[in-house]
Amino acid sequence: MPEGYCVKCKAKKEIANAVEEVMKNGRKAIKGTCPTCSTVMFKILGGKATPPAAGGAPSTSPPAGNPPTPSN
Ligand SMILES: [Zn+2]
Repeated sequence: MPEGYCVKCKAKKEIANAVEEVMKNGRKAIKGTCPTCSTVMFKILGGKATPPAAGGAPSTSPPAGNPPTPSN
């Protein structure tokens, strides 16, 4: 079971009914609910959207809100 932070319990909890999702920017995330208070929890995983090198713009999808940059 993945763990996440519940803002309502203000504590780390195991994420119940965890479902892995891939967001539009290619990052993976875990979506589920708090086993204590049923608040929706969302944990963003590292995924593949890691910058290749420091100082360089990531060649993968840019963050939402930014215009896409040509990468070649
Ligand atoms: Zn909770």
